[in-house]
Amino acid sequence: MCDPPATLFVVATPIGNLADLSPRARDLLASVDLIAAEDTRHSARLLEAWEIRTPLTSFHDHNAASRLPELIGRLQAGDRLALITDAGTPLISDPGYRLVRAAQDAGIAVRALPGPSAAIAALSVAGLACDRFTFEGFLPARASARRKRLGELADEPRTMIFYESPRRLPAMLDDCVVAFGADRESALARELTKLHESLHRAPLSQLARMIGEGEEPARGECVVLVAGARGIQSGGHFADELLDALVGEGIGAKSAAAVARRLTGQPRRKLYQRALELNDQKEARNSQERRPPPR
Ligand code: SAM
Repeated sequence: MCDPPATLFVVATPIGNLADLSPRARDLLASVDLIAAEDTRHSARLLEAWEIRTPLTSFHDHNAASRLPELIGRLQAGDRLALITDAGTPLISDPGYRLVRAAQDAGIAVRALPGPSAAIAALSVAGLACDRFTFEGFLPARASARRKRLGELADEPRTMIFYESPRRLPAMLDDCVVAFGADRESALARELTKLHESLHRAPLSQLARMIGEGEEPARGECVVLVAGARGIQSGGHFADELLDALVGEGIGAKSAAAVARRLTGQPRRKLYQRALELNDQKEARNSQERRPPPR
């Protein structure tokens, strides 16, 4: 297909192995008028490796507001622009969204040059169900917000894909054990397409232990994948056991739900309803036990 002269190309670049740049992406990057890159120094290395001499300009979240008018102006003047990021597919946990929207709104053609993305690469080798999946990107950095988000996902039936920094990986995996249960199948893909690439598929508690004890290094770039919940409420079984224990100890439904919410991040109302149910069940058991035996 022939592209109109003024076009914004969204170009995927390698996530580690430089040879993963497609021949089409290479030709295009060499032929456009300008490449907008997240980090020009980082992308210069890729372009040098492929002897691409197209001018580079920086485009990232912090300069988007000032750069947008300039880039849209060049597109409107008939230039062909490529957008790339440090690794993988632009916009996927990376800058570019505002540029793509602004270009479309200005009537500029936007074309994809598909290629690597860590999420899809990890999913394709994880050995978890991939007929339906959800991309969750990076979880919030703050522990309380992360636990809340994970709690909301406890009953998600699809395979979940998370990006995580190696620094936060140990705490993130511990929180996943609490939210999804120790036995939930999961996978950790590290350094995909690079020298120290590794892939482990194991129950969450095992992954957390491997990372916690240093059997697998918490280093490099990581994708964590968690299998979806099988059947209603299966993901929330930790919360269920916790509520059962609290209610069993005579703690009121409201307080039990508050404690469970702190530890699991699951919605307060759902926990409260469940605590009430468990309390009713406990009282029914107790009243049966108190009934005199039939003569
Ligand atoms: N746009 C990129 C993509 O399409 O995959 C993602 C960019 S995001 C800022 C960077 C995150 O992607 C890393 O923190 C890591 O979670 C994941 N990632 C990137 N390269 C990776 C690799 N080679 N192996 C594993 N994960 C990777």
